Amino acid sequence: MQRIYPCELTPEEYVASGAHRWNEPEAICPLCGACDCLQYHGSYERGVTNQIGKVISIPVARYLCGKYRRTVSYLPSFALSYRLVQAATFEAFLEGRFDSRDVQNWAGLLRQYERRMQAFGAELLRVVGGGFGRGPPRLSALWPYLKEACGSLAAATRRLVTQFNITLFARYQCHQPATAT
Ligand SMILES: [Zn+2]
Repeated sequence: MQRIYPCELTPEEYVASGAHRWNEPEAICPLCGACDCLQYHGSYERGVTNQIGKVISIPVARYLCGKYRRTVSYLPSFALSYRLVQAATFEAFLEGRFDSRDVQNWAGLLRQYERRMQAFGAELLRVVGGGFGRGPPRLSALWPYLKEACGSLAAATRRLVTQFNITLFARYQCHQPATAT
């Protein structure tokens, strides 16, 4: 299972400080619902872009649920699930900041992200229901609507994963509540 936690660091600060080791997992295990059941279980590496659009590798912490014997990984909120480009760069793109170097470097991929977000928009609004307040007048206003409700793209993604088990782009198995195997 994958969760997203609020992280104010840049990707470089996150790597340099070993933040994946000092972030605490949730007190209530999202898998079994027990208190303090998660044990550190190593990490895996993934790529994410930084503020200037360069790809760097970051470690992502994994915790093991002692009851279900399944793992939960905690992605820092600057990263998007299964997407290389960091949340802030996608937000800058959606805000029309095309002169920003990170946006320029990844413009083609960011257009794909936007198309995917638009394609998933109706489903997203159906799942969220009134959870973020009254819906947008049309799907093209999806980003201003999410920004108004959540403040930033990273915050919107974290709320979508934590409260609604979806991302801006899709419903992934790894965000669904697990059952014992
Ligand atoms: Zn557990």
